[in-house]
Amino acid sequence: MKRVVAGADAFVDGALRPVDIVIENGVVAALVDRGTPVEGAEVIDGSGLTAIPGGVDVHVHTRDPGYTHKEDITTCTRAAAAGGYTTIFGMPNVDPPTMRTDDLTQVLELYREKSLVDYNHNPAAKLLDEISPMAELGIRAYKIYMVVDTGRTYPHPAAIGVHDHGALYQAMQAVAATGLRLMVHPHDQAIMDVVEQEYWKADDRSPQAYARTLAVDDGIIWDIATATLLRLAEATGCKLHIVHAQTTRQIEMIAAARERGVDVSAETNHWTIFLGRWSDIETMGSYALSYWVPDHHREAVWEALRDGTIDMLSSDHAPHTREEKEVGWEDAWAAHTGTPGIQYQLPLMVDAYNHGTLDFARLVDLCATAPARAFELDSKGSLEVGKDADVVLLDLKKVWTIRNEDVLSRIGWTPYDGREIQGAVVRTLVRGTDVYVDGEVVGNPGHGKQAVRAGSV
Ligand SMILES: [Zn+2]
Repeated sequence: MKRVVAGADAFVDGALRPVDIVIENGVVAALVDRGTPVEGAEVIDGSGLTAIPGGVDVHVHTRDPGYTHKEDITTCTRAAAAGGYTTIFGMPNVDPPTMRTDDLTQVLELYREKSLVDYNHNPAAKLLDEISPMAELGIRAYKIYMVVDTGRTYPHPAAIGVHDHGALYQAMQAVAATGLRLMVHPHDQAIMDVVEQEYWKADDRSPQAYARTLAVDDGIIWDIATATLLRLAEATGCKLHIVHAQTTRQIEMIAAARERGVDVSAETNHWTIFLGRWSDIETMGSYALSYWVPDHHREAVWEALRDGTIDMLSSDHAPHTREEKEVGWEDAWAAHTGTPGIQYQLPLMVDAYNHGTLDFARLVDLCATAPARAFELDSKGSLEVGKDADVVLLDLKKVWTIRNEDVLSRIGWTPYDGREIQGAVVRTLVRGTDVYVDGEVVGNPGHGKQAVRAGSV
């Protein structure tokens, strides 16, 4: 099958260019001057649109297996397709939690049957003897949660949490030996335990109390954990990926560690930059609240996204039902934390670009190129001859309103309901095949393939 995306401005070699994308056998076969006739090719009309490489989202909670009342791999990847994401990495806090080779084999089989887009899965680096064998299954990273939930059993069950420094040290040595990257949710559980007791004693379990706990001392819960992780990465040689980079001190520490040669990547999530204001906590409670830090950090985060200190954006797509959120008005410690986002993150970023918050090259790097680079997905992340034809067509000018009724995630709600933005995903191709066209998901479960490093599996 030969196709050509014709007439769009294509993001090629670091800039938008009048280039048509010729696709053959699922890969980019050629990049030609706009209007060049391509014999025997089906034409995809990209006039007036902008073509970028498909998004790579390395932090996605599919909830499958085990929590499919919230989401499953098919509903999640339908939302991904509509949101311009062509590759996702799932997380290990499913049931059974992904800690062993058997669990990982089982979950990869589920993706094979159910995913519309390409995928991989990060198992938990919890059981030392299982770390190296799991690398044989083509994964690109492991995950560690330093957070263990109190007051609820999900989404951070004790079974997979690791925050003891000795255990972290050993896990990072074991991951370093595989050469893969370790993704960590930084969190000082010991400080959290002490601080939350104070609110509980005062019988304050409001969303505001929960937010203040996580933000205590201007973000110490994040900063102490990040400092520990960076030092352990330096000691063990473990490639590190820090999720939820959102404080000024985290950003400074990441930059300094890199300068010393530590291989560290970092992500910010949509909720930090688009949903993280105190006013969001006041009005939306647990629906908005993931991990609030004071508003003054936000400009530093945007600056770090612009200058590359935070090198990628991930959705941390975390669907929960309304019931699981509603309880938060009474007891925010009982509400499941996290918020959905994979369907709207890229359009929100285009809207930010339209408002002059960042330039277009940074947008593409944050959403596609940098994650592919950090996790060594050789065939993903840019429009280049020989790479997978994962292409997203954007309408940069379209003004529209995000609505709950359009949510493809099983939970049927978005914290962005009612928000008017400029910039929309029009079409998404995974390896040359349409998965989303003009408001309709057209991809099929089973189309997705495991995204691996060339020659690794
Ligand atoms: Zn997460």
